[in-house]
Amino acid sequence: MMYIFISGWETNLKFSAAHFIPYHSKCRRLHGHDYAIDIKISGETVNGMVMDFVVIKKELRKILESMDHKLILPLQGKDITYTKNDDSYRIKYENHEMVIPEEFVFICDVQHTSSEELAKYMAGIIRKNVDIPPNVSKIEVSVYEGPGQKATWEEELN
Ligand SMILES: [Zn+2]
Repeated sequence: MMYIFISGWETNLKFSAAHFIPYHSKCRRLHGHDYAIDIKISGETVNGMVMDFVVIKKELRKILESMDHKLILPLQGKDITYTKNDDSYRIKYENHEMVIPEEFVFICDVQHTSSEELAKYMAGIIRKNVDIPPNVSKIEVSVYEGPGQKATWEEELN
């Protein structure tokens, strides 16, 4: 089996964003990270290639640009509620409340904005928006919260 690998730090699959995770000792406070995304695509080669790097990077970059320099909020927010009035979100969790302009917010289809769930979310974006050839048997997506620490989602494809 062959695989191709894209390093987010080295190919600019990166973004910076703010988040918080309710009831977590430190992460419950609003804070930010520099994120990077690594992609590993495994499969048999066809005409000498597993698949084209460029397509994946292009699709992923679109979503990363829309998340960059924003507050990431979980769509299915466990322990978070928010309401939108006019052009801002009123966010409530624990006993806190904050109001953030809509243009500073990215609503992400996860329960928690942990790097684990963001990795799974990114893999879903790739599967949905990229035409993955049938020779590809596995995709792995890692999300780094800063250099040296990452969470990886692995997915076998049929
Ligand atoms: Zn964090």
